[in-house]
Amino acid sequence: MVFHHAGMRSGIECSLCVRCPRDRIQGCCTISPVFLLTDIGYFLNNGGDEFVNDLLDSPYVDISADQLMVNAIDPGEGSQLVCRFHHPEVGCRIPMSYRNMVCRQFLCPGVKLWKDTRARRWVDFWLYLQEEEIRRQQLLANECAKQGFSLLARRHECLRLVRSMYRDLQPATGLPDGYPEMEILVLKSARWPLAVCQMTTRSNAPR
Ligand code: SF4
Ligand code: SF4
Repeated sequence: MVFHHAGMRSGIECSLCVRCPRDRIQGCCTISPVFLLTDIGYFLNNGGDEFVNDLLDSPYVDISADQLMVNAIDPGEGSQLVCRFHHPEVGCRIPMSYRNMVCRQFLCPGVKLWKDTRARRWVDFWLYLQEEEIRRQQLLANECAKQGFSLLARRHECLRLVRSMYRDLQPATGLPDGYPEMEILVLKSARWPLAVCQMTTRSNAPR
């Protein structure tokens, strides 16, 4: 289990997911991920213009005023939906920083991460990120609405505003202190008792 402290784009990586006990083929990636204006702002400021354009041009994406939903694939015949970014052998095909907040932080209850006392100290960190993400999304959406821009109407102006506002929003000054850039916790599932813990600490964690 790896906690990546990367400011607003922090995320949790779980090595169990590649051999998911729930379903070796699909894991939990059965959703239609939603990208908010905050995600779009990040992409536009981090070399992701093409990714944004691909999303906006895709026939599989539902566009709302302030978010994009990438519809999952329906294999039919009663099978579970599958996220379009999911690969049966490698899992998610997009980098951690490009995943939305839910995907960056989601872990199924089977992982039992929060029962581990070493992991629990990170709860405040993730809660802050969730609240801050919502606050930023509202800020961007409200300003776009005030100017009469959205992803549906006057999209070009909307994207330009989101790009510039997102740039000005950083860094996340209220992010709790004292968390390393990366922490690795080695856990074992209920069937395999908790084993070793190793922590890696680096300074200058990005905000
Ligand atoms: S979070 Fe849980 S259900 Fe999802 S892929 Fe990982 S192990 Fe499987
Ligand atoms: S975007 Fe990636 S992490 Fe999120 S549901 Fe799809 S495959 Fe899974």
